[in-house]
Amino acid sequence: MQNVVIIGSGCAGLTAAIYAARANLKPLVLEGHEPGGQLSLTTHVENFPGFPDGIMGPELIENMKRQAARFGAEFKSGAVTEVDLSKRPFTITVNGEPHQTKTLIVAAGASARLLGLKGEKELIGRGVSTCATCDGYFFRGKPIAVVGGGDSAMEEANFLSRYASKVYLIHRRNDFRASKIMIDRARANPKVEFLTPYVVDEILSPQGLVNGVKLRHTETSETKQLELEGVFVAIGHDPNSTVFKGKLNMDENGYLEAKHGGISNVPGVFIAGDVQDHRYRQAVTAAGSGCMAAIDAEKFLEEHKDS
Ligand code: NAP
Repeated sequence: MQNVVIIGSGCAGLTAAIYAARANLKPLVLEGHEPGGQLSLTTHVENFPGFPDGIMGPELIENMKRQAARFGAEFKSGAVTEVDLSKRPFTITVNGEPHQTKTLIVAAGASARLLGLKGEKELIGRGVSTCATCDGYFFRGKPIAVVGGGDSAMEEANFLSRYASKVYLIHRRNDFRASKIMIDRARANPKVEFLTPYVVDEILSPQGLVNGVKLRHTETSETKQLELEGVFVAIGHDPNSTVFKGKLNMDENGYLEAKHGGISNVPGVFIAGDVQDHRYRQAVTAAGSGCMAAIDAEKFLEEHKDS
């Protein structure tokens, strides 16, 4: 029987683990299908307080994991396939193995969206990628495209320009969601060419490997074809909440609903990080909400120690 099970090992889950472990609760962290979460897929983090020169995302995550382990947190790999929140203790199944827990912290994060084009999913690893830091190296000296107009797209375009011979930044509008500093950096990069307002209509892969894209101008409907070998999709994320459907309250986009920080509609279940946040989505806000969830779980255990 666990005191606290934490679903997710990104910034929110690991911060919750640090707090719960320091409260002597021996939390069990279920790492999920993307261990380390989104920070482990990013490069330089320049806005996490306390690192004036920035820190690499994977290093920041590794530090948090070591910090949690130092105080007694335990880790288990694998994704959760089933949860029973109808009675306490809750039952959480991972790799076919059920775990019972008095409290649960859901910090399952959000996962990269795809464009929804025919064959796109099958081309992951064959030219389509949602992770510049994981796959950039494979595109040395090759032309590629990044799709999206947010901070991720700008960051990835700059990062990928280290490897690629050319980076097309394709965005469906002329305005960008990204912050000005990120846009300015990408615009100043001689290898990055902005193509707006364009959508990708088709990813071309006659031999099973990406060799081009067909684009359509959203205002004039003019089409054009680009020869390239990689398509990096950077169009945001969806919350990893499917397993909680009908069990925890969520909005129409699947983001879990939390009040007063991370309190869910089920007593004893707390929520943290991007699985409940479509507004801020920052490492530091995820960490903050992980801290709140752990403190709430600790209080809950204290208040229910006899039940
Ligand atoms: P985002 O801000 O939600 O931007 C997603 C982009 O993809 C938007 O430009 C959107 O276009 C476009 N898009 C969405 N669906 C699309 C579709 N089906 N087809 C074509 N384009 C589509 O997501 P993000 O860039 O991943 O950033 C998420 C959060 O992380 C933000 O808060 C961001 O500030 C933060 N972040 C920060 C940094 C940093 O500071 N270093 C780096 C990365 C991310 P529309 O604008 O037309 O909707």
